Amino acid sequence: MNDYTHAAETQAHSEIREEVRKLCLNFPGAYWRELDRAAAYPEAFVRALGEGGWLAALIPEEYGGSGLPLSAAAAILEEVQRAGCNGGACHAQMYIMGTLLRHGNEAQKQLYLPKIASGELRLQAFGVTEPTSGTDTTALKTTALRDGDEYVVNGQKIWTSRAEHSDLMLLLARTTPREKTQKKTEGLSVFLLDMRIVKDNGLTIRPIRTMMNHATTEVFFDDMRIPASALIGEEGKGFRYILSGMNAERILIAAECIGDAKWFTEKSVNYAKERAVFGRPIGQNQGIQFPISKAYAHMRAAELMVYQAASLYEQGRDCGAEANMAKMLAADASWEAAEACVQTHGGFGFAEEYDVERKFRETRLYQVAPISTNLILSYLAEHVLGLPRSY
Ligand SMILES: Cc1cc2nc3c(=O)[nH]c(=O)nc-3n(C[C@H](O)[C@H](O)[C@H](O)COP(=O)(O)OP(=O)(O)OC[C@H]3O[C@@H](n4cnc5c(N)ncnc54)[C@H](O)[C@@H]3O)c2cc1C
Repeated sequence: MNDYTHAAETQAHSEIREEVRKLCLNFPGAYWRELDRAAAYPEAFVRALGEGGWLAALIPEEYGGSGLPLSAAAAILEEVQRAGCNGGACHAQMYIMGTLLRHGNEAQKQLYLPKIASGELRLQAFGVTEPTSGTDTTALKTTALRDGDEYVVNGQKIWTSRAEHSDLMLLLARTTPREKTQKKTEGLSVFLLDMRIVKDNGLTIRPIRTMMNHATTEVFFDDMRIPASALIGEEGKGFRYILSGMNAERILIAAECIGDAKWFTEKSVNYAKERAVFGRPIGQNQGIQFPISKAYAHMRAAELMVYQAASLYEQGRDCGAEANMAKMLAADASWEAAEACVQTHGGFGFAEEYDVERKFRETRLYQVAPISTNLILSYLAEHVLGLPRSY
């Protein structure tokens, strides 16, 4: 690796980074290319990360995890991406588990967290988005109605990634009809769904093929009965619980984008030095140098915002603005670095064997998910700059 991609001040958690890099060496481009062609899940990679304890980084030691701070989890995911791997296969386990940790009762934590930490159980699926409500989460239509000791769930989710490869799903559903609540954010509840019990017994999962290999699905709930003990925290407070986990999600995804940007930049620089056209390396031309340099500068600026957001988060301070800005700036930086990388590679940027086109497709997602750039800009306009609410 070139030194320029990891300046001294950005080397927090250097031992963790080193270990993750070593693990990722076992999963080179050829591994990911084959999976990409077959639209297959990176089972061996996720198993290796789980066995190494990396996916349990944020689970407290008392429940079998390593109790590391958020910046350590960010370092793990950044290194995964920087090595050319795809953390999208398992990153959700790091951030959705926080809802269980913060709002679950002791019995739920004892039952699930040690098994999640050991890799025996996977909590990889997050059922929030629905086809009709989209970004307007509180307009979701899936209902969970109490019936004795159970809830009966009906509705549909979309883009529920990794549902086929997860044992558990964190599910957001409406437990009180919208018209019976004072605010639209009330009456939503979070459930920890044990999919092993309800699969094909009220729960149907259908894969959606996408431009990159992301194991995403749509899921259907048809009179699906789940025990009342699956409810996390208090009924009706689910939206607040989900929101409280969003900052961690944004920061971790931003760290992944920083890793992607570093991967693209290193790839661009190496190719620009080697490829000779008109009798000299293409990297000697400023037309090739400048887009790479610009993307690099933007990545470094975004990286500082990721560190600041993580630092505020770890101090228990409000980091909504910083987490959102980190996600947007890092996603923009990775996309810019991706674009420069394709351009630097010329025709080979489109050839599978260079991995550039695969990573290009993969990093494009972060302009849209888990929150799109427009919604971040709206958040900043309204909550930071005090402009009128636009929607
Ligand atoms: C591969 C993939 C994996 C995903 N994984 C998950 C997952 O595991 N779990 C989950 O719950 N969701 C998941 N999502 C969903 C993702 O979070 C949403 O796609 C994203 O939040 C955007 O919502 P939408 O697709 O419904 O777009 P829409 O809400 O329909 O918006 C469409 C476009 O309009 C823009 N827009 C909408 N409203 C406004 C406004 N008021 N002002 C300006 N612009 C606006 C949006 O920014 C977007 O560009 C995934 C999505 C993808 C593609």
